[in-house]
Amino acid sequence: MGAYSIGVDLGGTNLRVAAIDSDGRVLDRFSGSADYSAGPESVVSAIAQVIHQVRSRVSLSGLRGVGIGVPGFIDIDAGVVVEAANLPGFQDFPVRDEIQKLLGTPIILENDANAAALGEMWMGAGKDVRDLILITLGTGIGGGIVVDGKVLHGFLGMAGEIGHMTVFPDGNPCGCGNHGCLEKHASATAIAAMGRMMHFGNDVTAKKVYELALEGNERAKSIYESVGRALGIGLANLINLFNFPLYILSGGPLPAWQLFAPTMFEEVRRRSFTFGRNGTRIERAVLGADAGLFGAAYLPFQQRIYRETSASVG
Ligand SMILES: [Zn+2]
Repeated sequence: MGAYSIGVDLGGTNLRVAAIDSDGRVLDRFSGSADYSAGPESVVSAIAQVIHQVRSRVSLSGLRGVGIGVPGFIDIDAGVVVEAANLPGFQDFPVRDEIQKLLGTPIILENDANAAALGEMWMGAGKDVRDLILITLGTGIGGGIVVDGKVLHGFLGMAGEIGHMTVFPDGNPCGCGNHGCLEKHASATAIAAMGRMMHFGNDVTAKKVYELALEGNERAKSIYESVGRALGIGLANLINLFNFPLYILSGGPLPAWQLFAPTMFEEVRRRSFTFGRNGTRIERAVLGADAGLFGAAYLPFQQRIYRETSASVG
């Protein structure tokens, strides 16, 4: 049994765990739910229990560490969740140290979108590059920026908040205090809101708008065209800023790619002078919901690689 690590994807309702070896092979998997009503201590002990079970099944000796993707702001050095709207009770809770205490294994926390970006680089759409940006489309829009194989965190750990990039200066108000944030014009929530404005009903969803567009409904099609424009403006900004070879889109609205991609590429070409002349790619993610699991599992390997590199340099 060679080296492996365990990746944990902690969601607002579900808990997914996978043991993955250094070649990216999944050795074992667990998928269950997380109950936050009993407080963070009980969630943490449930996580530790699942990790313990997975480790017992795979191998007790080969485990290199555990990476955990968390939907919120993380103080990476302190191993603390600074803010996580979807994880009640986790604010300022020392997740890393508590799980480490229970397992005696090194634990690394990472924001879930950052973990997904790493996962796509390691085993997904970005296997051939070291620099990429992942944009996750869901109820909100998140993102992760990977530079030379490592997540760009920024000094507060809040880098990569692509969903709050301004794409329309006088656009829709956002909970963050800004107007015209990308997520207010291109998330699944925004698609449903536009559907309500188009009188598709108060309970209309992004999926319903997608189905209407596929049936040829012009107003539904125009919603996805407007999503494409917002995404294209955001992507053009990123391309001009970073000059990375690859930008990846993931998430629920992705099946609608053929509906929003034409206006997206049109905007990118219009606004980015580097796109199209240097082989820059905008592609769909390939790992789906597993991207975060792979990225979380990659974290212990990555830390080891960097520790070994700096040891050989020093
Ligand atoms: Zn915002």
